[in-house]
Amino acid sequence: MTNEIIDIHAHVPLDLRLIPDMVRSFRRNLVSMVFISSLGRNHWPAFPSAKEVNQANEDAFDLCDRYAGFFRAYVYLNPLENWAKHINKWSQNSNFVGVKLWISLKNSLGDPGVCFPVLKYAADKGFPVLIHSFFRNKGQFAGELNPAEVARLARQIPKVKIIMAHLGGTWEKGLYAVADQKNVFVDVSGGPPSRGMLETAVRLCGHDRVLFGSDMPCRTVQSQLWKICAAKIPQGIKKKILGINARIIFGKNFR
Ligand SMILES: [Zn+2]
Repeated sequence: MTNEIIDIHAHVPLDLRLIPDMVRSFRRNLVSMVFISSLGRNHWPAFPSAKEVNQANEDAFDLCDRYAGFFRAYVYLNPLENWAKHINKWSQNSNFVGVKLWISLKNSLGDPGVCFPVLKYAADKGFPVLIHSFFRNKGQFAGELNPAEVARLARQIPKVKIIMAHLGGTWEKGLYAVADQKNVFVDVSGGPPSRGMLETAVRLCGHDRVLFGSDMPCRTVQSQLWKICAAKIPQGIKKKILGINARIIFGKNFR
């Protein structure tokens, strides 16, 4: 059984000079492959323009070229702008693994239905979609999805594979919201380690639907790996979460 560690959720840092340190940290912690996205150069605009989306994707795919075989990239899309040209362009790249959506996911009326065309396209092509999701008691960002909204979208497009980032933010609520939705996977990134977090994820979603992500550089890779190392679950399941599940879920989308 493989001991491979694949981090399916990391970002190009705002300060590009931090990249060598980030790579060193991944390697020191035995991470062998990292799926990265950029949410913008210099800052992360909540509702990025076509130009900003393109720059972000240029940066992510450039990084894959510079560290060949170590990084793979998601294409970052804003469903509220002309997203098709970006996915048509970048999904041809050999380092492409899937689609990343962040918080430009509702129109001015708060309707997440704007994501349908992107999700349907991804479903047809078999591209997994990593979606930021956070349940906040107050102060939800304007275009940000909560876990219940992720579950609803997944229910409406059952063929799409959605990876809900951060276990949905407030992890107990996030996990219960998507537990019955079999085409929603979860990544453990974001937030500090918490007793019972991973055990609950495995119990509610099953060990095939949980993935390792760090959200580097927003978090340290050590703190996020600790969630898995310290969990009271069998070693074989830890290996699935650390790498085997990513190989299965992303399948043909990376080599
Ligand atoms: Zn992230």
